[in-house]
Amino acid sequence: MIVMKFGGSSVESAEAIGRVVSIVEARLERRPVVVVSAMGKTTNRLLECARLAVEGGREEALAKLAGLREFHHAESPEEVRGAIDAHFDELAELLRGLSVLGEMTPRSVDAISAFGERMSSLVVAAAFRQRGIAASHLDAREMIVTDDRHTQAAPQYAETYERLAARLPVLAARGVVVMGGFIGATRAGVTSTLGRGGSDFSAAIAGAGIGAEEIQIWTDVDGMLTCDPRVLPGGRRVRVISFAEAAELAYFGAKVLHPSTVLPAVEKQIPVLILNSRRPDVEGTRIVARGAESANPIKSIACKRNITAVSIKSTRMLMAHGFLRRIFEVFDRHETPVDMVTTSEVSVSLTVDNAARLEAIVAELRAFAEVNVQAGQALVALVGDGLGERKGIAGRAFQALNGVNVRMISQGASQLNLSFVIADADVAKAVGLLHAEFFTELDPKVFDVAAREALA
Ligand code: ADP
Ligand code: ASP
Ligand code: MG
Repeated sequence: MIVMKFGGSSVESAEAIGRVVSIVEARLERRPVVVVSAMGKTTNRLLECARLAVEGGREEALAKLAGLREFHHAESPEEVRGAIDAHFDELAELLRGLSVLGEMTPRSVDAISAFGERMSSLVVAAAFRQRGIAASHLDAREMIVTDDRHTQAAPQYAETYERLAARLPVLAARGVVVMGGFIGATRAGVTSTLGRGGSDFSAAIAGAGIGAEEIQIWTDVDGMLTCDPRVLPGGRRVRVISFAEAAELAYFGAKVLHPSTVLPAVEKQIPVLILNSRRPDVEGTRIVARGAESANPIKSIACKRNITAVSIKSTRMLMAHGFLRRIFEVFDRHETPVDMVTTSEVSVSLTVDNAARLEAIVAELRAFAEVNVQAGQALVALVGDGLGERKGIAGRAFQALNGVNVRMISQGASQLNLSFVIADADVAKAVGLLHAEFFTELDPKVFDVAAREALA
């Protein structure tokens, strides 16, 4: 069995879904389980409707929802239009409820955003049948058991794997199985989600649960590229990369993979492939336990944009122990993850991606330290296995970044990344300079060196 996950743009229209059906059809003998995201930008649109409803824009919310209904209708096979309507009726009820309440809990956010995948999975299953391919729809909420941290729920692996192993092989023997990514349910049966971009994670969980021979992540790029194409176009495809490198890149902002995706795959030693649903013949990127030896020390450059840097200074804490603990306790209490940390004797600098609770955090920190907050920063990470043991990488990076003001530097303890904090406005320039330095000559075992054709 294999798991094939198709992201939002891969199922954004009837035409795109037609491509999905053809791709899967060519692999039927591998007994595919298909995991799909919501169609196109549906998740964003649903969340926008919810926001409008809560903020007093009930009519606008319902009008937007009507547009989304029309879109789903237009792109769906006849067979499921009734079911789609029933889902939209329920959504309209939920939006009316939200507008009365005037507030939204994480639990209601999940109830609403889950509709995207609930519907897309029905649509894609029907598209297979329309083409004469046996297919069944499986409600992911019956399979993926999570805790109740709504909008960021964590899978309960033992129970989830048990359910997947009991159901999927039986269904897959009869035809293509289609389930929605991103969504699950708590033990009590309440709908939950795994966090934005979580369909990749769902695919990996499904693959691990059934001991799949491969997990394929089909998306809108040729694979993991040497840089984020939205920051710098023209990056090369990385042909093979290690689990550790892929996880690090995902963590540092390479959106092509959800950061949790590799965990279940690593544990069960299942190779993960990243493939392009618009160019299915391109071999993609293979993520394996041990990457190939590479003449290039860096595999890719990732960036996290628009982050906030916080520097915390206390001369009173000079030589005193417990300073770091006090700082991190504050971040912990406010459930705000810290991405990068650098320290000196009397000061600590760190970065956060989610600044929602920053005001409260800073107020608490100010009780014992001087605090300086700078928004509009970016984290740029060079990632490659064994980077820490290679000589001269940092020197080359600094030389290349000549002229860009570097605010923080960190070499991860994993020896896998070298990262910098710079002004967000400098990101394109910095990535361009680093890319020219590290990717002008390419090891053909690891990178696609053929001239890139224009993306279809
Ligand atoms: P999907 O809807 O298929 O899950 P996503 O939008 O979540 O697709 O992820 C694919 C996108 O990730 C690409 O279109 C690209 O803009 C972005 N991306 C960021 N960094 C990289 C990278 N290093 N390699 C490839 N794509 C990247
Ligand atoms: N549809 C969800 C999102 O937009 C999950 C995903 O696409 O992976 O975040
Ligand atoms: Mg994604």
